Amino acid sequence: MTFSRFRFFPLLAIMALGVILAACDDDSNGNGDDAAADSDDPIHAISTTNWLHDAVSSVGGDLVEAEALMGPGIDPHDYIATEGDLTRMERADIIFYNGHHLEGAMSDVLGQVDQQSRTLAVAEQIDDDLLLEPDLDLLGEDFDAPYDPHIWFDIDLWKLATEIIRDEFIDIDPDNEDVYQENADAYIAELDDLEDYVQERVQEIPEEQRMLITAHDAFGYFGRAFDMEVRGLQPVTTDVEAAASDIRELSDLIVERQIPAIFLESAVPPQGIEAVQAAVIDRGFDVQIADEALYGDALGSEDTDEGTYVGAYRFNIDVIVEALTTD
Ligand SMILES: [Zn+2]
Repeated sequence: MTFSRFRFFPLLAIMALGVILAACDDDSNGNGDDAAADSDDPIHAISTTNWLHDAVSSVGGDLVEAEALMGPGIDPHDYIATEGDLTRMERADIIFYNGHHLEGAMSDVLGQVDQQSRTLAVAEQIDDDLLLEPDLDLLGEDFDAPYDPHIWFDIDLWKLATEIIRDEFIDIDPDNEDVYQENADAYIAELDDLEDYVQERVQEIPEEQRMLITAHDAFGYFGRAFDMEVRGLQPVTTDVEAAASDIRELSDLIVERQIPAIFLESAVPPQGIEAVQAAVIDRGFDVQIADEALYGDALGSEDTDEGTYVGAYRFNIDVIVEALTTD
């Protein structure tokens, strides 16, 4: 028996060597399969909107490979997921979406993705008491989301969203808790500075002209946070078209309050706001459309300042103050 063990040893050694060589060969063929299972790989995170993507990529930093499904000028209410999006979502480690019906046309897809992948509807994690309820009279009974989804325009809510994203990454990758905490703190510090800036700039607008009229009702949280009256031609979803009566009512209000300017949004076609301007001019009052469209539901291009949360928000407030502050 002792001898047979000795006789087997070289055979086992040769077999083991064969396994090692085979493994080396696998690595050298560059197929990347082994690398995909490596725990040092970045977490692959997908966000639906580029507003969300900004927070996700900031909190994730170097540990996360982040991408957005929707680019500049894309309206999230009617965005339909492409085949490529579905493949990307299947491969992602985590999918962040806004929720509260923002991605209305993607509801079915997101419902399916929820079953198969790790997802987080960021706005739906925020306490309902902190959210605005849209005017359901404007939306019709079919609208099944009771809260205004445009939470990014309340900077305090966006800080909460940042903490929600941070905690999700820590849950996925607890070894790097300190990094996510540090990244989130740095992002929130930028939001604090932004809040101070916006607060100061709003004060420059004469009180009676602090009314923000935009293509759709995306700025409700902005209005609540900075004490500005806000009206959208279309309601909180662009799925619901403005009626002729909406254009009439809004133009009456502009004439009555002598509001100097109204605003386009980068992700909404200009015709509605142009119709309001025409109706106001018909009534004998000269309202301007601000030269630059606001970033409502989508950020600007990724390689510009307006491609970031802070940059787009600053851009918006600068455009608003410039247009509403008249002599
Ligand atoms: Zn919207």
